[in-house]
Amino acid sequence: MEKKGRIGIIGLGLIGGSMAISLSRSCDVVGMSRNPETVEYALSSGMITSAARSYSDFAGCDAVVVCTPLSLVKKTVEDVYAALGDTTVITDVGSVKGMLSGLPGRIIGGHPMAGTEQSGIRAAKERLLENAYYILVDYNDNPADLELVRRIALACGAVPVVMSAARHDRLVAKISHLEHMAAYALVNSAMTGDEHIVGSGFMDTTRIASSSPEFWNTVAALNRGNIVDEMDRYIATLSDLRRDIAAGRDITAFLAEAKEKRDKLKYSRRFMSEYVVYADVPDCVGSIVGVLGRLADAGISISNLTVMNSREGAGGALRIELKDEPSYRKAKEILG
Ligand code: NAP
Repeated sequence: MEKKGRIGIIGLGLIGGSMAISLSRSCDVVGMSRNPETVEYALSSGMITSAARSYSDFAGCDAVVVCTPLSLVKKTVEDVYAALGDTTVITDVGSVKGMLSGLPGRIIGGHPMAGTEQSGIRAAKERLLENAYYILVDYNDNPADLELVRRIALACGAVPVVMSAARHDRLVAKISHLEHMAAYALVNSAMTGDEHIVGSGFMDTTRIASSSPEFWNTVAALNRGNIVDEMDRYIATLSDLRRDIAAGRDITAFLAEAKEKRDKLKYSRRFMSEYVVYADVPDCVGSIVGVLGRLADAGISISNLTVMNSREGAGGALRIELKDEPSYRKAKEILG
């Protein structure tokens, strides 16, 4: 994309819209979405250069990026291939990659590992993909096409990483899909009655259970073998732990091993969204303003603020979320 290229984007939502904003800096972007108002908004805000009414309107594009909801990705890729054949590269941003294995065409899979809890075009942001890993899968061994999609990822500020679909799906089952299933199960298992008091531990470990049920239902269906394997491993670990607790054994070594592993994780990946500090504030007028003032004086902007009513395991009554690692480090220095 050194010279001006032409990229098609189907599905102008959070990911498609964000990519359109970035790519429109260096390319003509042809956009298509389900809702005509979305397309109108994308045109009027300059996210896309022109609108496509049918897949054949993408003829002449270097690549078409399929950013539709996950349940529609495979069908959309097949339909675009039926319309355009091998004249263009077809890539997607779907969160599961095995589903495109074996399809004909110049298909390169993609999965930008970035997102927010929001959806739709109005949530799109130019920097959404910045510094996020962008997994690429070359299904049919097309190095030149892989290179083109790698440059698309780079133009969005992402960090491309190439791997097989099988490896990707095993990896995301381990680092993301299991955790979502565990969080949903934990909420349903723990919240049996009329709970008014919840601890910070519960809030921290179940935050992701507020994610879209429809999306996670699709993920479970599309990556079920890997998710079941990871769940089996987790259930076995949990049942060993249960056995030791029931037998009154000392579990310090097990807990210390986990603590050591967890402590080693660096706060360096923006998709981890773990830039949280706690401040101990006295229950008196102006104390919260005082803490915020100290952060503001240091030029630190915060992205969220919670007063914790139950804070077992947390370092203070005020939970402050920061935008990025430098803000997190500065806030830690100031608040201790
Ligand atoms: P999203 O915000 O809901 O965007 C998808 C958009 O596609 C919708 O806003 C909708 O726009 C449009 N759409 C729906 N049906 C369509 C159709 N039949 N044809 C064309 N457009 C259609 O969802 P998203 O979070 O961007 O996710 C899109 C893809 O990105 C998914 O495949 C997902 O696996 C992947 N992904 C998501 C994340 C994340 O964290 N969100 C991260 C990585 C990858 P209108 O109805 O307004 O037209």
